Amino acid sequence: MTTPTTPQTASTTMTAATSASIYQQLKGHLAELKLADAAEALPRVLDQAQAEGWSLTQTLEHLLAVEVTATDARRLAGRFRFANLPTGATLDDFDLDAASGIDRSLLAELGTCRYLETATNVLLIGPPGVGKTHLATGLGHAAVQAGYRTYFTSAADLAARCHRAAIEGKWGTMMRFFAGPTLLVIDELGYLPLPAEAASALFQVINQRYLKTSIVITTNRPVGAWGEILGDTTVAAAMLDRLPHRSVVVTLDGASYRLRNHTAASDELRRITTGTNLR
Ligand code: ADP
Ligand code: MG
Repeated sequence: MTTPTTPQTASTTMTAATSASIYQQLKGHLAELKLADAAEALPRVLDQAQAEGWSLTQTLEHLLAVEVTATDARRLAGRFRFANLPTGATLDDFDLDAASGIDRSLLAELGTCRYLETATNVLLIGPPGVGKTHLATGLGHAAVQAGYRTYFTSAADLAARCHRAAIEGKWGTMMRFFAGPTLLVIDELGYLPLPAEAASALFQVINQRYLKTSIVITTNRPVGAWGEILGDTTVAAAMLDRLPHRSVVVTLDGASYRLRNHTAASDELRRITTGTNLR
């Protein structure tokens, strides 16, 4: 039996061809706009849309959400790469019970990153091993997570880079670099006495960020002793004029966490090996 199927077949073929070419065009648009993740997800999202009976709006939303999620993840990874954080230490894995001198509510407040909106600085002061670098890294981590451009450096490294930049005639570029991030972390101020030139570089970095963007500084020296660290007392005085103003000072005065862990571990070892409890 022959049935006149020709017209119908032709129209079906036409439709399939058209929708295939529209699909290719759509893929082309996504590629042209560099929406690679949406392009890749397109067949999956279309299949899902058909299976679940999504509306056109829902389908578009799902497709673009794929791209937005991937973009957010890429930007976050980029901010982390740029931030140069020395470890993965976070505020959450900072043990407050082991740190004396820390105000819990202050730390929780710092964790919200609101201080960055008012260009408030944070000074973390305390002897070695009490968790200053951990906290500074944790603050950097929180800032990166919250979407702020963050950069971590040590005072010595900052000074060395500024020194090199001055020699290479790139002082302006270097200053702009350190002015850029919303949060600049300067670790270990005062571990080494800084030559006058380095102190002056540090001052310029602090000065150009003053009242505009935040700095987190860790130091083992009380603010009063900064004159010695900075050698040049004029620079120290100018810096002291600016830094403590609009700053949160966190003083950590507990026993060294490293030392404490070590002590606990060796006590435990002694207990096991001698059968005595020394505590
Ligand atoms: P600082 O910079 O004050 O010399 P660190 O931040 O380098 O001290 O701390 C030394 C080590 O001890 C790091 O591994 C840090 O993660 C850990 N540490 C110190 N204090 C704490 C704490 N309260 N909770 C968890 N880890 C801590
Ligand atoms: Mg440290």
